[in-house]
Amino acid sequence: MAKPPNKQKCPICGKPPSEEFSPFCSRGCKDRDLLKWLGDGYRVPGPPADPESLVDGRNGLDSDAPDRL
Ligand SMILES: [Zn+2]
Repeated sequence: MAKPPNKQKCPICGKPPSEEFSPFCSRGCKDRDLLKWLGDGYRVPGPPADPESLVDGRNGLDSDAPDRL
């Protein structure tokens, strides 16, 4: 039986993973994924940052949100 083609991709960058760092392609991507998980634990409490509001440059308090407290 032939080996099935390796369809796995590095979840970080999408490159073919290496055996050593599977399912990641490199140590850098593996570290990045680890940091991503750790980042959830170290994230400061509070509302999540809204990319749209950041792009808009406004905090949205004066648009459709009522007065907060
Ligand atoms: Zn990668």
